[in-house]
Amino acid sequence: MPPDAYAKELDRLWEQVRPLYTSLHAYVRMKLVETYGKDVVPEKGPIPAHLLGNMWAQQWSALYPLLAPKDADPGYDLTKILVEKKTDARQMVRTGEGFFTSLGFGPLPKSFWERSLFTRPRDREVVCHASAWCIDWVDDLRLKMCIEINAEDFATVHHELGHNVYQRAYNRQPFLFRDSANDGFHEAIGDTVALSLTPEYLVKIDLLPKTPPPGKEIGYLLNLALDKIAFLPFGLLIDKWRWQAFSGEVPEARWNQAWWDLKRKYQGVVPPMARTEGDFDPGAKYHVASGTPYSRYFLADVLQFQMHRALAKTAGCATPIHTCSIYGNKEAGARLIKMLEMGQSRPWPDALEAVTGQRQMDATAILDYFAPLQKWLDEQTKGVPKGW
Ligand SMILES: [Zn+2]
Repeated sequence: MPPDAYAKELDRLWEQVRPLYTSLHAYVRMKLVETYGKDVVPEKGPIPAHLLGNMWAQQWSALYPLLAPKDADPGYDLTKILVEKKTDARQMVRTGEGFFTSLGFGPLPKSFWERSLFTRPRDREVVCHASAWCIDWVDDLRLKMCIEINAEDFATVHHELGHNVYQRAYNRQPFLFRDSANDGFHEAIGDTVALSLTPEYLVKIDLLPKTPPPGKEIGYLLNLALDKIAFLPFGLLIDKWRWQAFSGEVPEARWNQAWWDLKRKYQGVVPPMARTEGDFDPGAKYHVASGTPYSRYFLADVLQFQMHRALAKTAGCATPIHTCSIYGNKEAGARLIKMLEMGQSRPWPDALEAVTGQRQMDATAILDYFAPLQKWLDEQTKGVPKGW
């Protein structure tokens, strides 16, 4: 795909989901106005970035307690359950492995359990940012993660194992093809599986005694949206900024201004205080400083819902897709495995087609998944200004 077409493709996907983001933004702003007052949060303008509970304002779930719907909370706390059950780090990974084997993937090799790092060592400093490795490009799979016993790390374990099973699935391809179909795929696989960690699934593996009563899904969806939907414009703008900087479209003397212009345009956020070109705020993002491409995370966000929708259908799930879990479904697993085994040997539309039947990336699955939330958000924000 030529570079310009790629940039256009990202814009197309963003336009598909922008209405949902705008609704979420309006709801969050309304609640922040209630909490901090109009003098701090403008009723119609962009949100001051420091109120969103994350240094880059890229994921907002830290605000969930402030935003939680009163009568639609799912009524369970996975972190509490894991702690009460005295789950340890190794068991968290075993549970993650169990999801993948239920789909038809082979168990992780013995060496994985011997050579991985699951907990923060007491005797030395290590990089604790979670990562998944295949040391010999065949089957020396390893996880490096300082696992904390909470819901977030429970999902992260699945994310990382998604990398590991992908690495092993393409290990019979010629060396140059041992990578993901496009940049977004590697990041999307584990997250696709993590979308199946529904209350129904938690009941099946004995983590939850019974499923929450119907109508309580809004809290679950809102919490997820505060991470996945809030992230979309951020995931889009990092590379937009980088392309402008590298092409010279924005001269170095305006790098910081251009950063905040994009933040305002796409995320609808502003800095809490005046910034100057003496500041270099983009450099506070690890991936900018390290030169790591970023639109992969935007694509992964889109792809995981598209794949989840398709795999849920393959698994015969007829209920709303946010309630579907592909756990234990070998047919869905076979589709996924077929795609992973291709590695980079085919153009990515072929890989996408193997799982979804579609050759185009499609963000409408996000709208399907969050349809009940969109309706709820619009009810909550009736008469409240939208946009900025
Ligand atoms: Zn990852």
